[in-house]
Amino acid sequence: MAVYLCHERPDLYAHDADVVATRPGAVVLSRSAFHPGGGGQVADIGAIEWAGGVVAVTGVEVDPDDPDRWWHLLADDTVTPTGAVQVTVDADHRLRVASLHTISHVLNAFVFEEFSGALVTGAQINGDGTGRMDFDLPDVDNDRIRALEAPLNEVIDRGLAVTPIYVDMRQADEVDGLVRSMSVAPPPTPDGRLRVIDIEGLDRQACGGTHLSNTAESGRVRIAKIENKGRHNRRVRFALAD
Ligand SMILES: [Zn+2]
Repeated sequence: MAVYLCHERPDLYAHDADVVATRPGAVVLSRSAFHPGGGGQVADIGAIEWAGGVVAVTGVEVDPDDPDRWWHLLADDTVTPTGAVQVTVDADHRLRVASLHTISHVLNAFVFEEFSGALVTGAQINGDGTGRMDFDLPDVDNDRIRALEAPLNEVIDRGLAVTPIYVDMRQADEVDGLVRSMSVAPPPTPDGRLRVIDIEGLDRQACGGTHLSNTAESGRVRIAKIENKGRHNRRVRFALAD
């Protein structure tokens, strides 16, 4: 996996590209600022405009045989963009997902700290401003998890810098808790580096998703629901407040 364009240029929401492959309802582009999703995070959405019109992009499907080949899924499978195109990433959708994703790191850090190294067993960040994380948390009073809502919002109020850094894989093994999640760690770059998201003074976590550059960019969040999933798993549902 190369470094994603959306990781190199997180503020790039519109650019030119060429269509390099087509199939009914999907195209591959020469370059794309879309995030392809993965690790529980939904892909970016947006639009492709070409000489023949404009069509919405509803998501991205990474070719299982070639992770560099991203099929941009089209809302209308009767049209086929060709040639030179203008690509637009939906900035509101990106912000909602990046906000909840960044806040999920904060929640992960708090749970890890509060409950003696409890691990994430699953995560999902949706485009509608909702998400969930599953934690391996036996024998915990749900009110203690619910009580994390206030400190989560304090982190948003404090405006902590969120910075992607790249660390050597061997170095990563030596940092306890860096690859804490069981499911959202991205593959390393071709030169063996791991992308790590640093939240100023609070958390470092390997991750390939989209994030804010400062926690203050997020709206307020609420912990919507906590469900018990089996003896060990707690599902924490959270959402951006209206
Ligand atoms: Zn992340």
